Amino acid sequence: MGSKLQRFERHIDIPEVGLEGQKKLMAGSSLIIGMGGLGCPAALYLAAGGVGRLGFMDDDTVSLSNLQRQVLYDDNDVGVSKVAAARRKLAAHAPDCLLEEQNARLTPENAAAVISRYDLVLDCSDNFNTRYLVNEFCVRLKKPLVSASVYHHEGQISTFRGWEDDKPCYQCLYPKSEKLALAPQCTEDGILGPVTGIFGTMQAAAAMNELMGIGDSLSGWMLMFSAFTYDSQKVRLQKRATCDICNSMKNNADNYVNNGAKCGIN
Ligand SMILES: [Zn+2]
Repeated sequence: MGSKLQRFERHIDIPEVGLEGQKKLMAGSSLIIGMGGLGCPAALYLAAGGVGRLGFMDDDTVSLSNLQRQVLYDDNDVGVSKVAAARRKLAAHAPDCLLEEQNARLTPENAAAVISRYDLVLDCSDNFNTRYLVNEFCVRLKKPLVSASVYHHEGQISTFRGWEDDKPCYQCLYPKSEKLALAPQCTEDGILGPVTGIFGTMQAAAAMNELMGIGDSLSGWMLMFSAFTYDSQKVRLQKRATCDICNSMKNNADNYVNNGAKCGIN
């Protein structure tokens, strides 16, 4: 086994992964939006695990109160751009991973250009406005979206493939509302450090499984866990008939079919 593959032999030893699965990871790409408590462990495990190309996006700098949970950064990084600090740490761990950092915030103007370059997106952001935007463009561009959020002692994770007929998108679950736009962010509220580690790491696992096409997809499911009670729950998610995003996709598809039919007649 070559030294490149030797690095991943504990992956290759898993029967469901094997050499074929590892090669899929190495040929795959992922984009992480938000390099905070969720993004740091997700990026570390994806880069170390052999994902071929990893994009990561954040426009923030490291502050002292980040260090309790944002494990890629240390005291020397305070005041430094998060993506620049993350690149240094990730490059040391995973020299063969092509790292693409973007010191920027996702906006309606850049979302299509950024997201279209990757196989899959991990939403590790901390606010609903970004979450809605990521979801909208992932549905439009048909990119699997691995989404997690954390609060105090607990968190939740799901994978969304909202362009599929029977699979919900993020907005099916959380219809847009003024109230949600004002909901607390973890920068403003308490969070137990390891809870971000648990969920960011689960996002990396879900992303790897999607890239390799193995395991039971979390698409159509939400997994919740509390590090206070240690209860975990996996619940079914439904597509919402009145979801703006899913319906806009459906209408576009209908138009396409109608136009196609018209072309056929002509
Ligand atoms: Zn939807």
